[in-house]
Amino acid sequence: MAPSSICKIYTLKASISSTTEKLILIPRTGPKEVAIEQIPASQNLTLSLTGLGNETIPAGSSVKISISYEGVIWPNEEGYGVFQAPYTKADGTPAYYITTQGETSGMRRIFPCLDDPDLKANFTVSLIIDESLDGISNMAVAAETKAGGNKKKISFNTTPPMSSYLLAFAIGPLHYVQSDHYRLPVRIYATKDQDIKLSQWVADIAADGLKLYENSLGVKLALEKVDHVGVTGEPPMGGMENWGLITIGGSYFLLDIDDYDSDYRESIAALYLHELAHFWFGDTVTCAWWTEIWLNEGL
Ligand SMILES: [Zn+2]
Repeated sequence: MAPSSICKIYTLKASISSTTEKLILIPRTGPKEVAIEQIPASQNLTLSLTGLGNETIPAGSSVKISISYEGVIWPNEEGYGVFQAPYTKADGTPAYYITTQGETSGMRRIFPCLDDPDLKANFTVSLIIDESLDGISNMAVAAETKAGGNKKKISFNTTPPMSSYLLAFAIGPLHYVQSDHYRLPVRIYATKDQDIKLSQWVADIAADGLKLYENSLGVKLALEKVDHVGVTGEPPMGGMENWGLITIGGSYFLLDIDDYDSDYRESIAALYLHELAHFWFGDTVTCAWWTEIWLNEGL
């Protein structure tokens, strides 16, 4: 790589005001303000040192970028980035909760980033949300504090190194069931208006599957818990293997085991076990590009 005066990352519809903080920190020379240009057609965000003399970023050096921005909560039909998942409250009122979808390039809809699968980073997520709501993410909660008004701040532990497309969170009036068949808690979340007890059998299957995979493969997951949250609405989805927070499509979710024969139960279990297998094949070891993911989607 040659020295450069620009950094390129991806973004889609992030609103970056010209008055917000924009710093690029270069270890050797200290903080520098940079010019920012969004190029919607290529979904590029260019941070340029041009105009600050002949300063360049040395080849092989690291830079720290700080950007304040406003993102978009996308409608349910989009199904990518941060989006609305609809549900019906107990009184019949329509409502929605918030969840995410990163694969393949959904993460750039949430925050400016590099979302190529072969680039891994440690992520530290915090959510500031209404006190009445619950928030979950890839990792366990590190701290929960008051954030003023009727808000609270939930800070999560830092993730292991992982591709950005595996980052996830969900926000809503959530409750869960838990299986303790695995060394880490395995939970299934749904909104409080839904009968979450219906998911106990899949929570137990998921936990048994994790134990089997870990014992067979001899590779311990670098996670603290394993959550699943149902995602309802359009587009209909199967599942998504976000590391530590799997999302499960509505038609595979909250099923009364007594309503289905063994063949159908097996197909439901297969969906959960497919997503969990990705914790090793895809999340721990990741294909360099999307054209190769047939290697782990065949599981
Ligand atoms: Zn898959």
